[in-house]
Parts: sequence; C-alpha cells; structure tokens
Amino acid sequence: MASERDYYQVLGVPETATTDEIKKAFRRLAKQYHPDRNPNKPQAAERFKEINEAHDVLSDPEKRKKYDQLRRYGAFAGAGSGGVGTRGTPGGPGVEFDLSDLGSFGGLGDLFSSIFGRRGGGPRAEDEDEIETAVSIPFRVAALGGRVPVTLTLPEVCPTCSGSGGAPGTTFSTCPECKGRGTISFGQGGFAVTRPCPVCRGRGRVPAQPCPTCHGSGEVRVEKRLAITIPAGTEDGTRLRLKGQGAKGRGDVVVAIQVEPDRFFRRDGLDVIGVVPINLAQALLGSKIKVRTLDGKRVVLKVPAGTHHGQRFRIPGQGIERNGRRGDQYIEIHVEIPEHLTAEQETALKAFAEKSGMKY
Ligand SMILES: [Zn+2]
Ligand SMILES: [Zn+2]
Repeated sequence: MASERDYYQVLGVPETATTDEIKKAFRRLAKQYHPDRNPNKPQAAERFKEINEAHDVLSDPEKRKKYDQLRRYGAFAGAGSGGVGTRGTPGGPGVEFDLSDLGSFGGLGDLFSSIFGRRGGGPRAEDEDEIETAVSIPFRVAALGGRVPVTLTLPEVCPTCSGSGGAPGTTFSTCPECKGRGTISFGQGGFAVTRPCPVCRGRGRVPAQPCPTCHGSGEVRVEKRLAITIPAGTEDGTRLRLKGQGAKGRGDVVVAIQVEPDRFFRRDGLDVIGVVPINLAQALLGSKIKVRTLDGKRVVLKVPAGTHHGQRFRIPGQGIERNGRRGDQYIEIHVEIPEHLTAEQETALKAFAEKSGMKY
C-alpha cells in the first residue's frame, strides 16, 4: 500500500492545528526521523522527506489553503471525512479524475505540481524543473529599467552519486515499494493519481547504501546568483521568465516582480505623478518651485498666482518610456494651510478678508 499522503496525518495534527502546533509537531518528528540519526534506514529517510513535505505545505498559509481545498475533493489517500463522497467531484463517481481539470479550481494544478513533482496536465509538461521566486525592486528601477541581483537555491545533480542516490560502489536492488515500476498509484472516491514512487524516487531501484552527500535524493541544493534585466516600465506583478536558468540547468526561473512604492512618485500607465506641497502665499501670489524628474534631473516649475489645491502641472516627456512611447510627469500641488495663527497673523488675515469682501 502506498504511504498515506494526508499531510495532517503525516504530522499527526488535527486539521484545525495552528501554525505553531504544526511547527512543533514538525520539529519533534524531524528530529526523530533525521537521516543522521537513522543511518541505513531508508524508511526513516522517506518518512523524513514526507514530514518535510507536509511541513512545507501546511506552514505556508497560501499553500495550506490550496491543499485544504484539494483535500476536500478527496484527492489524498486517508483524507478526512470531508473527502468522502462525490460532492463537487467533476465527472461524478467512478469517472477517472483528470488532473488537467484542476486548473478550474483556481491554481490547484500548481499545488499538484509541487506535491507530485509534475504538472497537472496542460500544455507545458516540460515545466517540471521550473523554479519560482519573488523579488522586490525600487520604483525607479521598475520605471527606468536596470539590473537586479537575485539569489536562488536550486537543486542540482549530486556530484557524489551523479544523481543515482547510492553511495559510491554500492549495489542496487529492485525497489520493494513499486516493484521497479518507478511510480505508484493511489485513489479514492473516483480519483486515481499516479506519482513517482517516494521510496526509490521514481528510479525503480534502491541502493544498499544511500549516498552520504545527498542522503539518497540524488540532488543537492546549490545557491546561485543571477542578475536579471528589468525592462523599463515594468509593472508590479510582472512575471519574468529566465529560460534554462533553473533546476539542473534546464528548467526556467520565473521571477515575480514586486515594485516597491516610491516616496515621491506614483504611476498611472506611462505617466508618473509626484505631489509637491506649497504654502498659501505661493498659491496666492505664484512661485517657482524646484522638482525632480524620474531620472533625477532638476527642473524649475512655475506655479502661477491663484493655483488651486490638487491642480496638476505637466512636465512633458518625463514619464516612463515603453515601446518607443514616453509618458509625462505630472506635479500635483498640495496647498498647505497653517494650523495655527499668531495674533498678528490673524489680524493681518482679517484685514485681508475685509478688503476682499470675504465672509468668515
Ligand atoms: Zn519505487
Ligand atoms: Zn548523492
């Protein structure tokens, strides 16, 4: 029988467990099953991997939410009572569940990919080694373009065993879990899922002695530094794909860009808007103010007498450039009203009001 893959059961916590409880359970179990403490016990190593996997998903609120959703559809062996029955089962009972349907449940296919190490169908079956990362960049870099360093931890083929998972010189035998097939299937309530065998990791063979470097996984994690080119006008949420920079030199790296807010500028399409405060006298009498453009130039802006709060002035051609078009920069004027007046100021203002026929 395939190992039970319900992550709550793996960690021995109820589905209502808090993140803290999950972490505690993980630490206790990880200690118990750590490969260093259980040399030559492939079952312990496997359990250790399972525990890590379960913790990976359940300690991340976003992944846990998706997992819980998936679990309710009964996709996991040994899932809770919520998984029994055909409630919401596409195709009804007895119909083999097509993994590609998961796309319609809001990105659950991605979860399948992270849990089972493959895509839930779809056109991009070669994306097994895709690595996703997020990087946050300053507003100006996003607007003007530039290069940003990114550090990734990528799986690489273990140099000691060349990916076989066995210690140098060890012998291999047919995997007892999958009988050499390399895959196992499990299913419940009309679901049938095939995934790589967890004991031999899809190889079909197990070494008598696991590799001391990678503990049998055939992979090591290597830190890699990349410099990514940010095109001018990059928007928040943009995903940049770096071909062939990912796992084992063949997968892609997908970088999700988060644009940090700027102290001065905000963005509206290709235009940028900056707020400049002026005082009451500048608004009434007019003034010249110095402002900075996006690329750091200083320009002098003439604010005419009688400028209103919120009025905008355009500095042409100083916005974001994209595909040969360049936006403008707008300066939005905020007129600052003094909160307190001295007796002298009040007298002067009252005199002004009377001369202007202003009621107050
Ligand atoms: Zn196997
Ligand atoms: Zn190795």
